[in-house]
Amino acid sequence: MAPAIVWFRRNLRLDDNVPLDAALRGHETVVPVLVLDDHYRDEDFSPPRLRFLAESLRELEAELAARGSRLLVRNGPAGDALAALARETGAEAVYGHDDHEPHGRALAREVDAALAWQGTRLRLLPDLHLVSPGSLRTDSGRPYAVFTPFLKRWREADKAAPRPTPPRVPTPDAVLDTSFPSIPLSRPLRLREVGAPANPPGGAREARHLWDGFRESALVRYEGGRDVPAASGTSRLSPHLRFGTIGIRRLLAEARAAWKDADAPGRASIDVFVAELAWREFYASILAENPRVLTESFRPEFDGFPWSAGEEAEERFAAWRDGRTGYPIVDAGMRQLAHEGWMHNRVRMIVASFLTKHLLVDWRRGEALFRARLADGDPASNNGGWQWSAGCGTDAQPFFRIFNPVLQGERFDPDGAYVKRWVPELAAWKGAGRNLHAPWRAPSPPADYPAPIVDHATARARALAAFDAIRGAAGSPRR
Ligand SMILES: Cc1cc2nc3c(=O)[nH]c(=O)nc-3n(C[C@H](O)[C@H](O)[C@H](O)COP(=O)(O)OP(=O)(O)OC[C@H]3O[C@@H](n4cnc5c(N)ncnc54)[C@H](O)[C@@H]3O)c2cc1C
Repeated sequence: MAPAIVWFRRNLRLDDNVPLDAALRGHETVVPVLVLDDHYRDEDFSPPRLRFLAESLRELEAELAARGSRLLVRNGPAGDALAALARETGAEAVYGHDDHEPHGRALAREVDAALAWQGTRLRLLPDLHLVSPGSLRTDSGRPYAVFTPFLKRWREADKAAPRPTPPRVPTPDAVLDTSFPSIPLSRPLRLREVGAPANPPGGAREARHLWDGFRESALVRYEGGRDVPAASGTSRLSPHLRFGTIGIRRLLAEARAAWKDADAPGRASIDVFVAELAWREFYASILAENPRVLTESFRPEFDGFPWSAGEEAEERFAAWRDGRTGYPIVDAGMRQLAHEGWMHNRVRMIVASFLTKHLLVDWRRGEALFRARLADGDPASNNGGWQWSAGCGTDAQPFFRIFNPVLQGERFDPDGAYVKRWVPELAAWKGAGRNLHAPWRAPSPPADYPAPIVDHATARARALAAFDAIRGAAGSPRR
């Protein structure tokens, strides 16, 4: 029987891997491959993600070897590489995951065209989400643009059970022969990226370790703990979900098992955690239905928004980027991002609101910086989070609701543990008292920490005036 190619992309694991499982069920042998196409050379594929990818691939390679197989690595373009590999191995089909992102869709078309003329089948199966992006519709048959009704339908929708880890991955002898061409993982230059100083470690073993630790302690307290950036109240699984080093069906099945054993508050927390997984799927659906959001505001009235430009805007953007705005919670978040390639969700919302509303810098600039610095950079969630924060997206935080960074800091980091961890100037400051989140109010602010680059009340008034201008232009009622 002819083998099947298993094309790994953002599902870098053996457990709960739908294309691998389907290929093994339908064929006696499989040929696992990763294709390094131009996407990985793209500037947007940031160093933190390349490092995470490289570590995840090394582990996948070892796991396949332990099961009698081998991870082949070929250079792209993907269509040419997969078509050539099918000819070399006599494979009759290529199995991969389907993709809601514009890049992934274009890739699928390219691969399909390259395989079709030689009669090789392409089978792209749902693997990255519990409910395929774009598959849910409102009663009137339209795509969802508001989260709460989406969540209701999403909770009701059928979801597949996790697939087992294969004990063995039978692979043709010719492919196992070391003379069969494959690029050593140590060779591609970009896979040697250093990443952020404390980059999240990649690989399925690390994902399992994080998930077990989180599930056994923080999951049942997630509802309260998830908003406290100093605590380990969230799973930190986001880069693992981005690269598929843990299966989404496995997560849901184990969260449901924990729910059965939990008391009422624990169950409420697990429900909130599952709703966060649904946010990820909501934004994936928004991107699947509206690829234009990658470059445009979801709400067209924001096309004419008077974003700041010029030298002053550049200086403000640089201060935000480098964690020197003078607002401790904002600076702590931006420094965490630079150091860890990750930032706590509450703080992502605060820094995004600050950039777009206090500094009036276009959300696209913030989104691009996050993309360049995050290990979990995900086009759909990043875009959705930025547009939500800027007030121009689906289901958005209304523009006129402007986070006060001092109050946010006092509420979610009351003892200042998070700010002190990331802003050493403030950790060393003896005279903080009750002013840690507003150092300028203290009789003697720390000399080595910047004064606020904008005054909250002034910035708020300016943002509201800008918003009123576009509301007026769009002819919509004022707030
Ligand atoms: C401005 C902004 C940009 C963001 N950019 C990204 C991004 O590039 N990649 C990314 O994965 N998430 C992004 N998020 C969403 C969220 O901040 C992260 O998913 C979360 O902080 C990851 O930490 P965690 O794994 O500990 O999350 P947990 O709280 O443990 O949640 C579990 C999983 O649910 C998903 N999730 C949780 N919250 C959200 C959310 N608000 N939106 C979408 N999915 C969610 C993630 O996959 C996460 O790993 C962004 C949010 C904002 C406000």
